[in-house]
Amino acid sequence: MSSQYVERVLEAVKKRNSGEPEFHQAVSEVLESLTPVIEKNKEFEKAGILERIVEPERQIIFSVPWVDDKGKVHVNRGIRVQYNSALGPYKGGIRFHPSVNTSIIKFLGFEQIFKNSLTGLAMGGGKGGSDFDPKGKSDNEVMRFCQSFMAELYRHIDADTDVPAGDIGVGAREIGYMFGYYKKIKNIFHGVFTGKGLLYGGSLARKEATGYGCVYFCQEMLKDRKTGFEGKKVVISGSGNVAIYAAEKAQSLGAKVIAMSDSNGFVYDAGGIKLDIVKKIKEVERKRISEYAKKVKGAQYTEGCSGIWKIPCDVALPCATQNELDGKSAQALIKNGCIAVAEGANMPSTPDAVKVFLDAQIAYGPGKAANAGGVSTSGLEMSQNSQRLSWAFDEVDAKLHRIMINIHAAAKNAAIEYKTPGNLVNGANIAGFVKVARVMMAHGV
Ligand code: NDP
Repeated sequence: MSSQYVERVLEAVKKRNSGEPEFHQAVSEVLESLTPVIEKNKEFEKAGILERIVEPERQIIFSVPWVDDKGKVHVNRGIRVQYNSALGPYKGGIRFHPSVNTSIIKFLGFEQIFKNSLTGLAMGGGKGGSDFDPKGKSDNEVMRFCQSFMAELYRHIDADTDVPAGDIGVGAREIGYMFGYYKKIKNIFHGVFTGKGLLYGGSLARKEATGYGCVYFCQEMLKDRKTGFEGKKVVISGSGNVAIYAAEKAQSLGAKVIAMSDSNGFVYDAGGIKLDIVKKIKEVERKRISEYAKKVKGAQYTEGCSGIWKIPCDVALPCATQNELDGKSAQALIKNGCIAVAEGANMPSTPDAVKVFLDAQIAYGPGKAANAGGVSTSGLEMSQNSQRLSWAFDEVDAKLHRIMINIHAAAKNAAIEYKTPGNLVNGANIAGFVKVARVMMAHGV
């Protein structure tokens, strides 16, 4: 990094947002990639583009009181960060997980700006969540929580202002409760959420989109190396929405998925993961991945998450959470012959791990590009809602596939233009940033 402007902004971000390590990590990674762009386009500094893009346009923090089934009152914290609206309404998911705090929501919201720009659709960046843990709660408790969350958030969102979606801990059930409550208190039925149920405005292929999109992106990286998924051994972390549908698409392309995980541990099945069993455990029974080893002969369960990266594989798809894959795990993957890593999760690789992948020159697709299929299809859901139409599964899937091919091409070409060919981290950051920066310039201060 040599631009003094970039260094100054990074320092100011660390000072102004102390105690927010994930946020610093995300901003550092993006700004470091942008140094050559800033040097080439001096007008960005004069217009204060970096100072403006690192500062959320609006942050809302609110209390979420709710009553459990025994009548006891609990209070969680709700957050919505409306980060940047240059390209369209704020757009980004809501996460319910005990680890949620402003650092995590800001890192996710910041990443979302560039991801949404890469999709080519009209979406700004935002993110939200709460430190509420839906695990182990009854449906009624989850409903009461979602209603209390929405009792505040409804003031700040709208189909043309800010359109949330799901993320960790927020799936069809939670979106249904939040959408239903919004409709009730605002007396309006419109596309204020994406990831909705298919019976009330959701898009076909949205549930599958992030996982499928990640595999489509990886397919492009493999194509550049004159190979494909056929016959490849694939390791996938997580067993939630993204992981399950990444596994489904990889299998349909002829790959063998040999391991999946959750936050307690991972299962290894040399014969290939039986996805119908994983879906039943995770989507229907809401149980732990360890159940898989009880149901499938020959499958092994290991407690703890990081061991999954020691399993020899050709392709690794981290699809669980941030910083789940460290430098040591990255080295183990390379040593065992892994040729491609595509991130279904947001920022799953630590900076050390990213460096290992880039130094080894394997195919490495960073989350903001590789997992952009989810928000892309959310954008397609918004279009369908505006038209009051529903497109067929194959139509949405074909559009998603085209968008992922375009995102890969945009990142690859920007990496070449800025003289780091093959470095899709730089490429994705630059391609995503330049468009937002130009529009911010056009809008004035
Ligand atoms: P889900 O809640 O459906 O699944 C998350 C999975 O990751 C679960 O298997 C969960 O295990 C595991 N996990 C969560 N936290 C941890 C942790 N601290 N350590 C290890 N494993 C963990 O979420 P999604 O599949 O929707 O999201 C996964 C990732 O993909 C996130 O990074 C998210 O931001 C990103 N993403 C999601 C999109 C979407 O459309 N859903 C779009 C783009 C990115 P457990 O059940 O034990 O908690």
